Amino acid sequence: MALTDEYGRPLRDLRVSVTDRCNFRCTYCMPKEIFNREWEFLARDSLLSFEEITRIVGLFSRLGVTKLRITGGEPMMRRGIVDLVSRLARIQEIDDIAMTTNGSLLERHAANLAVAGLDRVSVSLDSLDNATFMAMNDAGFSVDRVLEGIDAAAAAALTPIKINMVVQRGVNDGDVLAVAEYFRDTGHIVRFIEYMDVGHTNGWRLNDVVPAAEIVDIVASAHEIEPLEAQYPGEVARRWGYIDGSGEFGVISSVSQPFCGSCVRARISAEGMLYTCLFATSGIDLRRPLRDGSSDEELMSLISKVWEKRNDRYSEIRSEAIVNLPKVEMSYIGG
Ligand code: SAM
Ligand code: SF4
Ligand code: SF4
Repeated sequence: MALTDEYGRPLRDLRVSVTDRCNFRCTYCMPKEIFNREWEFLARDSLLSFEEITRIVGLFSRLGVTKLRITGGEPMMRRGIVDLVSRLARIQEIDDIAMTTNGSLLERHAANLAVAGLDRVSVSLDSLDNATFMAMNDAGFSVDRVLEGIDAAAAAALTPIKINMVVQRGVNDGDVLAVAEYFRDTGHIVRFIEYMDVGHTNGWRLNDVVPAAEIVDIVASAHEIEPLEAQYPGEVARRWGYIDGSGEFGVISSVSQPFCGSCVRARISAEGMLYTCLFATSGIDLRRPLRDGSSDEELMSLISKVWEKRNDRYSEIRSEAIVNLPKVEMSYIGG
């Protein structure tokens, strides 16, 4: 019988963070003042090895997971990432492997990742305006570098490519239309993401969120669009199509219109902690049983028990009282 949680939600998607390190310092994710020399990143030997990651993903696949996303930190900063993908691609039940990346190392790795078995990439790009983009990544990376990465991913058929743009009021909301128009007709799908209160270091305020409805209005002010059906149950983005057939975009409205009811996703941090919600304050250690000789059956039983007891619905019950809890950081849990 399929594994379901307290609200009847199955376990279908798994996100694995392979590093908590990143070469960007996006102000909404890893603000430089906090993620500086003093910040203690995970030690090398605390990271799950490729063998451990492959084993754990294999076990999740036996429990119903068919979709896998590799993330971070910046996943391409994990040494040997191509080798890891080739191991994961051999797991039969996983029929879709995607990676979320800031695009900075994509030009270098796209072709090899595709050969290794990666199916597609989501590339984060918050503005096409160089000054705005550089202020947001706060690490001196130009828009061109990311666009070159996107071209390399397209050439390697890591498609359809999603372009993730986190929209922050007064920061890059003026760039929504330019980004939508740039990628219209390219086959790439822009997904505008509401700025979320993940972690507790980015100083999130509700006033900084541009609600999805407002984002849709911005695009609709210049183009005729219509809502599209979800492609599969649990799809987080609400899809919109251009009536002239020039493609589609999506909005991810985690704050203004939460979608916890259909959330079928588990997450594993780079050191092997299992989280059943992006906004969790604590997780379940899988590394210890992985390393103390536990059998596959014991590990699967542990994961099943955690999922069966799951009752997370943070975005639906978000309130002043819980916004400031010490939630795990986005760069750690992996978006
Ligand atoms: N470094 C990779 C990247 O940026 O694509 C992967 C990890 S990053 C944590 C995953 C996604 O989370 C990115 O698209 C990023 O823009 C998004 N993200 C990070 N902090 C966020 C926040 N506070 N609200 C909404 N999205 C956020
Ligand atoms: Fe790095 Fe991605 Fe976070 Fe930006 S959003 S700091 S690229 S992990
Ligand atoms: Fe899923 Fe938690 Fe996000 Fe709700 S808040 S959609 S339960 S990750």
